Amino acid sequence: MTVKIDGKAIATKVKAEVAVEVEKLMDLGVTPGLAVVLVGEDPASQIYVRNKQRAAEKLGIDSQTINMPADTTEATLLAKIAELNADPAIDAILVQSPVPAQINESRIQEAILPSKDVDGFHAYNIGALFANKHQYYPVANTPRGIMTLLAEYDIDVAGKQALVIGRSILVGRPMMAMLNNANATVTLAHRFTQNLDDLLATADIVVVAVGIPNFVQPDNLKKGAVVIDVGINRMDDGSLVGDVAEDVHEQTSYITPVPGGVGPMTIATLMQTTVELAKSHMKIENEG
Ligand code: NAD
Repeated sequence: MTVKIDGKAIATKVKAEVAVEVEKLMDLGVTPGLAVVLVGEDPASQIYVRNKQRAAEKLGIDSQTINMPADTTEATLLAKIAELNADPAIDAILVQSPVPAQINESRIQEAILPSKDVDGFHAYNIGALFANKHQYYPVANTPRGIMTLLAEYDIDVAGKQALVIGRSILVGRPMMAMLNNANATVTLAHRFTQNLDDLLATADIVVVAVGIPNFVQPDNLKKGAVVIDVGINRMDDGSLVGDVAEDVHEQTSYITPVPGGVGPMTIATLMQTTVELAKSHMKIENEG
């Protein structure tokens, strides 16, 4: 029997913990501030941004969405980021991906102050993650949310064979580093990987972030594998499915459903990171 990992319930728990932390900060006269920048009118991005804004408001985080037109130049966006970097009321800055083609996304990620980089995409923070540094630094929220799920279900990753499929900066690469830091033996697979079937057949933990429905089938998996399905694919009938076939349950010990698995954790973890950044800024002010 497989255990369905309840991401919604764990996300609710994380948000309740964040609300307590926000209250403690408020008592000290600090309101965590999150700025979400949306360039253009991509409908999916608008929904993501609205959900982030709502979650922040519910938790008492001071969240502002900055809407910029689709023809915004890179220079204008960089100037906005410089303004937010300098604003002491803002602890966390996020630029919703994707940005329009005239803007170099990587340059935007590097312009956000590492200490306000709530998505953990700045090279400084990625470097800290890969080096497993012990000071505080923000990391990508989706893989961090996955680590929380694994911990909440007491799934020990140390010494296990972990296979991450997909190597985006958003999910796969930081996931690889987090599992490695937790002492798993990690393989990172991607579109050029030739022996994926062999890798799947021996993996104890499989994280799939590819964006192709039914990409992983039951026959592919080792019996008792823990499967984390990150994929979000909208089907023609409007339903959402992940990257893993529905009928893998016989083969897995744990599985995250889509929807209701990894998805809810991303926003909850974003809120957690925002509050941590606010705390780290307060500490710096007190030390200064
Ligand atoms: P992406 O879309 O940027 O890239 C896809 C990755 O899959 C690439 O690294 C590519 O090399 C790999 N890939 C493609 N075909 C492959 C193949 N045949 N074999 C092996 N690897 C292959 O990745 P992303 O932004 O991480 O998104 C992946 C999926 O996860 C999407 O469905 C996305 O919607 C979803 N996602 C969900 C959340 C969440 O909160 N649940 C967050 C981020 C992304």
